[in-house]
Amino acid sequence: MGVKAYGQEDPNLQEVVVSAPELAKRVAELGAEIADDYIGRDPLLVAVLKGAFPFMADLARAIDLPVEVDFMAVASYGSATKTSGVVRLVKDLDLDISGRHVLVVEDIVDSGLTLSFLRRNLLAREPASLEICALLIKEGLQKTQLDIRYTGFVIPPDFVVGYGLDVNQRYRNLPVVCTYVGPS
Ligand code: 5GP
Repeated sequence: MGVKAYGQEDPNLQEVVVSAPELAKRVAELGAEIADDYIGRDPLLVAVLKGAFPFMADLARAIDLPVEVDFMAVASYGSATKTSGVVRLVKDLDLDISGRHVLVVEDIVDSGLTLSFLRRNLLAREPASLEICALLIKEGLQKTQLDIRYTGFVIPPDFVVGYGLDVNQRYRNLPVVCTYVGPS
């Protein structure tokens, strides 16, 4: 028995890790917290494509401030279910972020290597401030070490898909986050 996806049970999907109502509630809470913290210094939300697209869309609407949005894309070498840690920028931002209050919107942090790369890359452009909002963090990571200001959920270290996360570009539009146990 798998999780239901696209109208039928999918044996590659094992269990729901974060349900749609849980996602909606937490995103609303994060949005309210961010709006409080950023009063008077409107943030520029920077989402990391493609995985962060639904989170970005929901979070931006949950922040009751005039935010701006921009996107960048990175690619990490490795198989569909394992990151290698070698990251390459494949789409850069359109906006100049110097002097801006930048909030990076990330889908999931596993080893933290992608985030370290992004942080270094963005800090070099001299933003006024730089904070991270990650929807999912895999258990076992040192949050303080990675300095992630806003976290949605800490989840077990299993490979997950849905709500933006894929395996070979599939499952990004699932409304839940669930474990994937199929071929990689
Ligand atoms: P890190 O560099 O922190 O090890 O990995 C971060 C990136 O790897 C994420 O932005 C995401 O693209 C991918 N990733 C890590 N864990 C998962 C996972 O469980 N599912 C999916 N679909 N992608 C993941």
